[in-house]
Amino acid sequence: MPRILVTNDDGIYSEGLRKLATVCRQFGDVTIVAPDREQSAASHALTLNRPLRLMQIEENEWIVDGTPSDCVNLAVLKLMKENRPDLIVSGINFGPNLGDDVTYSGTISAAFEGALLNIPSIAFSAVIGHHFSFDRCAAFAGELTRVALEQHRDPQIILNVNFPVEFTGVRVTKLGKRIYSEGVIERKDPRGRKYYWIGGEPPIWHPGEGTDFEAVQSGYVSITPLHLDLTHHESIARLKPLEEMLGNFAAAQR
Ligand code: MN
Repeated sequence: MPRILVTNDDGIYSEGLRKLATVCRQFGDVTIVAPDREQSAASHALTLNRPLRLMQIEENEWIVDGTPSDCVNLAVLKLMKENRPDLIVSGINFGPNLGDDVTYSGTISAAFEGALLNIPSIAFSAVIGHHFSFDRCAAFAGELTRVALEQHRDPQIILNVNFPVEFTGVRVTKLGKRIYSEGVIERKDPRGRKYYWIGGEPPIWHPGEGTDFEAVQSGYVSITPLHLDLTHHESIARLKPLEEMLGNFAAAQR
């Protein structure tokens, strides 16, 4: 049986993680290593300034008092050191992870941590709406997991899967672009001091053909391949003159 590591950023008790783990047990030996509380928008953070605790709560089930990336590291480099996972699945997140927002996502960062450790990884997130069902999302996640285990995949490329509320089909997509609105809300606390809340309004997206946002809006399951290379390759040639312009200045700073 292949080994599947299940994690998330909503915490060990989230319904999305429980259902994802349940479907994955059909196809492999499942180990759950997840944060002990919600870590949404934890991004790719690693905990380096305090000790981490790993606590077993069931057979093959562990909690970590840290981030999703901490969980993947402790799982792969400690718990499963002798038998590394064949696949890492993260989610199913309560809420989508689309377009420009992917860098905030703890769900996706757990998958990127898997890529850094050279393990094929998939992130699952769901749009929440009126006819929403984690069961429907989990059934699809299980089928994609089965397919992913059968095919050889480049571990450097993660799959970012977003579920619409109801499914019409599947689209392989690119990241959409978000329109940034005034997302900071200012209020006063009971003592009259100001406080702030980031991201009050739901995001608005640029209409874009072939994007993840367009897919889920039209009722399609969106699958976006992502990689960690943030280099903008087209700009390398354009910026080349900087080597000449600033080279002597740099060499003089001894
Ligand atoms: Mn979350």
